[in-house]
Amino acid sequence: MPADIRCDVLIVGGGPAGSSLAWALRSSGLDVLIMDKQEFPRQKVCAGWVTPAVMRELDIDLNDYARKRVLQPISGFSIGQLGQKLVSSHYAGEPVSYGIRRYEFDDYLLRRSGARLQLGEAFEHMQKTAHGWRVNDYIDAALVVGAGGHFCPVARAIGAKGISELAVAAQEIEFEMTAAQKAECPVDPEIPELYFTPDLMGYGWVFRKGDFINIGLGREDRHRLSGHVKSFCNYLKQQGRIPDDIPEKFNGHAYLLYPHASRDIVGDHVLLIGDAAGLAYPQSGEGIRPAVESGLLAAQVIRDCDGEYSSERLTMYRHSMEQRFGQRQPEPDLLERLPMGMKKLIASRLMKTKWFTQRIVADKWFLQSHQKPLVLME
Ligand SMILES: Cc1cc2nc3c(=O)[nH]c(=O)nc-3n(C[C@H](O)[C@H](O)[C@H](O)COP(=O)(O)OP(=O)(O)OC[C@H]3O[C@@H](n4cnc5c(N)ncnc54)[C@H](O)[C@@H]3O)c2cc1C
Repeated sequence: MPADIRCDVLIVGGGPAGSSLAWALRSSGLDVLIMDKQEFPRQKVCAGWVTPAVMRELDIDLNDYARKRVLQPISGFSIGQLGQKLVSSHYAGEPVSYGIRRYEFDDYLLRRSGARLQLGEAFEHMQKTAHGWRVNDYIDAALVVGAGGHFCPVARAIGAKGISELAVAAQEIEFEMTAAQKAECPVDPEIPELYFTPDLMGYGWVFRKGDFINIGLGREDRHRLSGHVKSFCNYLKQQGRIPDDIPEKFNGHAYLLYPHASRDIVGDHVLLIGDAAGLAYPQSGEGIRPAVESGLLAAQVIRDCDGEYSSERLTMYRHSMEQRFGQRQPEPDLLERLPMGMKKLIASRLMKTKWFTQRIVADKWFLQSHQKPLVLME
């Protein structure tokens, strides 16, 4: 049995949510420990694009970051429906997004977070104590934060059911291309390609970043996902968009979209952040920015709690999350109430227009350009 450890805040999960929270608490005087079941750097199933808002919120020096890591500027998108011609849009000036590799990005964020690290150690269980929780029989923490992603065991410990929630299931592959593969792939690294499925259940992507390429597909319906991914890749090969000899094995994961998630994010001496709280944007499925923002908002609440982490005090976090991301389970709007056949017809027409693909899909759904970066006072 390892020697007993004490800390003020134990964060379970060292992904973007957990490391952002720790980073935002770095000058709080609190003793923060991050536990992750994996050693870092580690692979994470993800397409790996982040908006400049994330870089601003975390005060990341882009030149420093790019010195030893992939940081692919994105200046536009090619968007359309699978089987139709894509519509391209370009943005002048600064990049509108960046392509990162999660293998590098998550390690970078974790190492600069300032927290003590307990890596290669899985959260197994926790017992309530007079002052908080005792985790894995040897870590005493006044507050436990679940940041363990969609299958976070802390979320389960406070009642998340998983099975009853509507999750997006996605698969991707990321690999370094050979010189021959690069020559065979006409995709512009600055212009990722997005292919929405005609049944309106999801979308696929092809995204080059530096010498790497990321290909994937996510759907709100996990039935036959591998078959959908295979058909998508065959289509891309027929269209000459990707090399013929890509590796076969795709990696899969799941996550919740914010409006559909029903899990509570606050418990007694417990908070959930990031995918553990079910926060991804509904149309794009992007979860890194909400994960980071939930970490920053949680840090503010933790500071304000002044060492008293009862569920009543932590309710502040529920309020600040609702203020930022809106109500869960909203009433369906007029468009969502239309019959499916009509929705498909309208979508297929809209996806051919520059107005819809740029102003709605790119600007609103993917870039979230209406949402200003979250910058909090320390
Ligand atoms: C195919 C795919 C593509 C995606 N593409 C994008 C994209 O391009 N842009 C975007 O913004 N979002 C994307 N997302 C979503 C994004 O990956 C997540 O929203 C994001 O990683 C959430 O961060 P997090 O810190 O909450 O969780 P995670 O990044 O999942 O980190 C959770 C951490 O918890 C650790 N952990 C888990 N269980 C335990 C345990 N028992 N004990 C200790 N540690 C544990 C894990 O090892 C992991 O390090 C994609 C998701 C998928 C599946």
